[in-house]
Amino acid sequence: MYDIDSATGDESSASLGCGPILPTASENAKPLRQQIFEHVRAAGRAARTDVTRALGISAGSATTLTADLIAAGHLREVEGLPRESGRGRPPVALEVVPEGRHVIGIKLSDETHSAVLTDFAGRMLADASLPTPPTRKTLDELLVEMGTLMDLVLQAANKTMADVSAVGVGMSGIVDHKTGTVPWSPLMASRDIDMACSFQTRFGVPLHVDNDANVLTLAELWFGAGRSMSDFAVVTIEHGVGMGVVLDNRLFRGARGMGLELGHTKVQLDGALCRCGQRGCLEAYLADYALAREAATALHRNPRNLQSPNAMLDALFAQAKSGNSAARTIFRRAGRYLSVGLSNVIQLFDPELIILSGERMQYDYLYADEVLAEMHELTLSDGRTPCRIEMHAWGDLVWARGASALALAAVTDTALGETRT
Ligand SMILES: [Zn+2]
Repeated sequence: MYDIDSATGDESSASLGCGPILPTASENAKPLRQQIFEHVRAAGRAARTDVTRALGISAGSATTLTADLIAAGHLREVEGLPRESGRGRPPVALEVVPEGRHVIGIKLSDETHSAVLTDFAGRMLADASLPTPPTRKTLDELLVEMGTLMDLVLQAANKTMADVSAVGVGMSGIVDHKTGTVPWSPLMASRDIDMACSFQTRFGVPLHVDNDANVLTLAELWFGAGRSMSDFAVVTIEHGVGMGVVLDNRLFRGARGMGLELGHTKVQLDGALCRCGQRGCLEAYLADYALAREAATALHRNPRNLQSPNAMLDALFAQAKSGNSAARTIFRRAGRYLSVGLSNVIQLFDPELIILSGERMQYDYLYADEVLAEMHELTLSDGRTPCRIEMHAWGDLVWARGASALALAAVTDTALGETRT
């Protein structure tokens, strides 16, 4: 059924006005003092003249607002900038007071949870990990594990929970970042978990939760290659195929908090069955369960006595490396589907860079020259510079750092934004 807006084209619609009703959520919407703070934090150290130039504000405003930020304990003056010429006092620079706030970033996983403790300047002070049985958890079990993990990382830095302003968490599944709820996650035994609320009740600290592909993208935006880029994408291949996109310097979250499910975009009508229940998804050709299914046949394993997908994939990779053509064909085919997926990403978002990440990238067939060549062939580029593809290190600490950025951004908004308390 179509919902036709009767006001469209109607003469009476003139009285309703025109133009977008919602304000642009740009960086400029942040208060100036927060913009100054974030500029200094991004630079590491910056002179007042740098702030004036970068933000296009008057020297007077910069002096007043930085004095306010120094008085509030968010910034401090240091002598650390190199002299531009001659002798004399070295210029005074501004930097973030690192001890001003602390946050914890956590990556929840089905085998090992990881955490980092980060200060207000974004420096990592400590990390910790906690092995966990690979079973689906109740909310209470998960909160107990998070409590243990946070104790570990706090002990390592000689801090207590009283030092922590917020916690960020990245986990796989469908995560509603706005409400802090988890409609579904493969880590959890039930649906529609009110994670942020339960966490705050138990630990007395706000929790900010997002899906793991988004926190990995934040890790690149805050600490990695994405810092100097306004439009880029991160594609992760692990159990599934995830994706995060930064558009105009901001993580794109969509309207319903679903995350960008690249793994469930269709690459074949009526194709292979995906674990989501639909057919022809990219994941059904690329994810570990898809490759393990084919590996069982290629390696002549008894389907009733299957190894874990990880072990099966390792065996398949070893076979491919030693020249087994059936094994090579399986990786080659997966690589072809990846090239289709990446080409679609370029065609939809026109990113400057696509970062490939995730445990499965250890199978270098997925990153082979022929995969990239095929991707470029499938993409209309009209002779322009093709999108760059890079492979970045993965590992739970990177994800945990991204989760700490989630908390840092929220704490910064609270401390310096309009909503400060
Ligand atoms: Zn699917």
